[in-house]
Amino acid sequence: MTSSCIFCKIVDGRIPCYQVYEDVETLAFLDIHPWSLGHTLIIPKKHFATLDVCPPKTMAAIARAMPKIAQAIMAATETTAFNVLNNNRREAGQLVDHIHFHIVPRVADDRIFSHGPQGEYAENQAEALARAIQAGIK
Ligand code: 5GP
Ligand code: ZN
Repeated sequence: MTSSCIFCKIVDGRIPCYQVYEDVETLAFLDIHPWSLGHTLIIPKKHFATLDVCPPKTMAAIARAMPKIAQAIMAATETTAFNVLNNNRREAGQLVDHIHFHIVPRVADDRIFSHGPQGEYAENQAEALARAIQAGIK
């Protein structure tokens, strides 16, 4: 718990939320400013800032919860599609520094997200990059 973290305050009940799911390790609640109706955030109850520092056990708990929450969101919003989004650090758009996964129900042509510009790799660049990443995985 960090005393200034908004999501820790939600876990502690010091800030209200519209909760949709809870288990021992995770909590899910409606985003206060939804991109679409039913836009939900799934968080671990324990504070970790970003995905790269989140322990596998905690990630596993989030992964366990996500399919059933997504199914229930689609049923309640009468949608059949959704995105999962996780922003890590400011450059990536993270505003709340407590790891969270957005589940955003989608309908055709809602224009909530679009694909970014797609690049190309220079010759040998992809191979070198893949090797570098592979070598860095502990
Ligand atoms: P981020 O940009 O960090 O991935 O997204 C943070 C999300 O948290 C935003 O979509 C924002 O609307 C949501 N949010 C921020 N403060 C609160 C809050 O107090 N309650 C709820 N339910 N959502 C919040
Ligand atoms: Zn927190």
